[in-house]
Amino acid sequence: MLSRRLNVAVIGGGIGGLCLAQGLKQAGVRVTVYERDRTADSRLQGFRLNIEPTGSVALHACLPPALWELLVATAGDPGPGIGFLDERMRPLILIGQNGPEHDPLDPTTSEHAVSRVTLRKLLLAGLDDVVRFGKEFTSFSRADDGTVTAKFADGTTATADVLVAADGANSRVWAQLHPAADRTALPAMAVAGKLFLTEENRRWLPERLLAGRNVFWPRRDFLFTAIFRRREDPAAIIARLGDRVRALGLDPEHLLADSHDDDYVLWAFIMHRDSLPASFASKAQDDPAAVRELLAERTAGWHPDLRRLLTASTPDTLYQTGFSAAEPLDQWETGNVTGLGDAVHQMPPVGGLGGNTALRDAHRLCAALTSADRGEEPLPRALRAYEADMLRYGFETVREVVRNTEGAITRSTLKRSAARWFFRTCGAVPPLGRAVFGER
Ligand SMILES: Cc1cc2nc3c(=O)[nH]c(=O)nc-3n(C[C@H](O)[C@H](O)[C@H](O)COP(=O)(O)OP(=O)(O)OC[C@H]3O[C@@H](n4cnc5c(N)ncnc54)[C@H](O)[C@@H]3O)c2cc1C
Repeated sequence: MLSRRLNVAVIGGGIGGLCLAQGLKQAGVRVTVYERDRTADSRLQGFRLNIEPTGSVALHACLPPALWELLVATAGDPGPGIGFLDERMRPLILIGQNGPEHDPLDPTTSEHAVSRVTLRKLLLAGLDDVVRFGKEFTSFSRADDGTVTAKFADGTTATADVLVAADGANSRVWAQLHPAADRTALPAMAVAGKLFLTEENRRWLPERLLAGRNVFWPRRDFLFTAIFRRREDPAAIIARLGDRVRALGLDPEHLLADSHDDDYVLWAFIMHRDSLPASFASKAQDDPAAVRELLAERTAGWHPDLRRLLTASTPDTLYQTGFSAAEPLDQWETGNVTGLGDAVHQMPPVGGLGGNTALRDAHRLCAALTSADRGEEPLPRALRAYEADMLRYGFETVREVVRNTEGAITRSTLKRSAARWFFRTCGAVPPLGRAVFGER
């Protein structure tokens, strides 16, 4: 089969779009990313992302080796396993506390608490000639010669062989391709915050909150905590990996100048929207005092350290969000417009799987486009196989996350008691715990 050199246009330079661009660039496939943000520095904040082996495998495959190592070095170790506890901090079951040590550089087993700022910088590294900023996509049109043309708000256009919707939740590309694609708002509201690991906070924080990830199953609401502690000091990383990064024509000091993101305990408190007092309409970011009051009221009777975690967190880190999930789509007739990540299968952030799934899509789509570019497979067949796979695992993940979100916010006393009893029984009977949760 003759090689057909492709020209790929990616709309959206987020996690998935940039990972795809890195992979295609490494494979020698022509790619351009069109991003709405005006500059590379437009979004230098946010919570860390938990990257699971699926995401690690994708990043390892798509990034140049020195950037993968830099990412691992700057990330935090999320700690072993996960703890299920009640609101008095009594363990119900602790999973995977004594598992084998994993090599953090082995993507198939490694998990990383990655700074969003550093991840974005590393994903953008070396793509100066690939990413166009200030390009807000408005619509696309297809021509008889098989090409597709994207239009932008500044009046410019770009023509390519394949257009990829990587423009996240509320994707405009996806809305034009699938006008019937729907998203459902879940009746959940979350507030998240950061408690920085200052000397003073380290003194009172209980070991369990410093050790790893925890989920708390109170009689109402739901709390998740995770520790984000860097593996290595930036100066030591630059001394160890700086020369390899400079050899790529990149500046390691710039890539690691991540002063906004210190070590911290992250927490996310999730509530059923209908259980909120009518007076609570304010946004957490705008009214931290109202949020603290709400949390203090809802956690009356909880362990004092959990109450302190929620109320002593730095006010300007508070973040409030509602949750939506994409409705499943049937496979369509494959054309020259495809998609990845939240644009297709948006899911609530419960469990931290959205970014990992976007990275998995990017890796899988990169392989499909590369094989078509090299003439190993016709483009429609490569894209169709990608879309079938992506729809299957993407919407399986959406279903799992929606189920977990519904469990977290359920107002059924019976269901909540049953869940606590189930975790406690699994904790008390190790063979049952292993049968249900594995050794992880
Ligand atoms: C609080 C919170 C915590 C989370 N934690 C985790 C976690 O721990 N682990 C995890 O895996 N996931 C997590 N997620 C989910 C994760 O952030 C998303 O699933 C992921 O960012 C999706 O990647 P994406 O590339 O599809 O979209 P995005 O990363 O959202 O990127 C979309 C890009 O498209 C651009 N864009 C949008 N519209 C246009 C347009 N018209 N024209 C041009 N460009 C456009 C945007 O500016 C953006 O850069 C979390 C989400 C939240 C809200």
